[in-house]
Amino acid sequence: MKTPRAQGTSRGLRLKNVEINPGRLCNNKCIFCMSGVDRDTHEPWADPARMKAEIKLRYEEGARSLGFLGGEPTAYPHIVECMRYARELGYVRVALCTNGARLANPAFVDECLAAGLTRVTVSVHSHLASIEEFLVRVPGILDRKVAALRHLVERQKRGLLPDGLSVNPVLCRQNAPHMEEFVRFFMDVGVRDFRFNFIWPEADVQNDKTVVPRFADVMPRIAALILENERELKTRVSFGAVPYCVLPEAFQKRWPLLAKYFYEEGNDLPTEVSFLKPDKDGRVDRFDWHEKGHESYRAKLDSCRRCSLNDRCMGIYRSYLDLYGAEGFTPVEG
Ligand code: SF4
Repeated sequence: MKTPRAQGTSRGLRLKNVEINPGRLCNNKCIFCMSGVDRDTHEPWADPARMKAEIKLRYEEGARSLGFLGGEPTAYPHIVECMRYARELGYVRVALCTNGARLANPAFVDECLAAGLTRVTVSVHSHLASIEEFLVRVPGILDRKVAALRHLVERQKRGLLPDGLSVNPVLCRQNAPHMEEFVRFFMDVGVRDFRFNFIWPEADVQNDKTVVPRFADVMPRIAALILENERELKTRVSFGAVPYCVLPEAFQKRWPLLAKYFYEEGNDLPTEVSFLKPDKDGRVDRFDWHEKGHESYRAKLDSCRRCSLNDRCMGIYRSYLDLYGAEGFTPVEG
């Protein structure tokens, strides 16, 4: 499952957001994908009647922003119908978190927009084909993602994506040295919003230090990109899953800078997730994304109690601590 990121507000409104997952099938095979670990390639998608019931239930609970997760949500055969249904119900914001492959077809992009899509987040990890193909394991995939982004940018300029367009690379050892060129490349395509999510050491890369870097390894690149962005690029850049204590001290002292680039809970809409289990089971797992993060995926250390940013920090991936240990997470002084 891809990490929800319901960024900021929707046109000034702080909407209650829900992310619904109709299943785990996908047309990519990303090496860091959680959905891929025990996915059965014959596993069916959720019946559209179950999806619509969940969309309606969440609407009745107050959600007005809806995102579709996967697997790959554009591969879900009923995705357009579900988007249309959501907008007809009254959802204001409808978002896709996608690998972008199907959006290389402009007719499909227009079909989604006509159904009421208002925001797209595309998972693209490198502007270099060899790295993108290594991470995603699909030959020729970069050209399709770039084509998709060109279609989306063109439509965004016509006001057809009022809640925005972003790319969300997974930050790993392979793409870290090229972050600045990555941003420049996709700014040339017309993208203005970049979210780098530090890789979650899970699935095929759980113990793979050739893919999962130490924070210290990538920090010079992160700092360089921030400085370049402040000086020259002046676009929207942020980072997920990077605890404040691994940042240079000069950053730690400047809350506005931290808030702009690293504050996860403050930058994202409050998000609940509905994960529809296969129809034969019929269950729906419902959970709050941030609570689940605190409880299951991330950890705090005993020393975090002394950290001045403890309340604003989501912690460290448990699997990162398993891989590299707790060294280097020194509490931030007030
Ligand atoms: S709370 Fe812990 S993990 Fe978070 S920034 Fe502080 S020391 Fe680091």
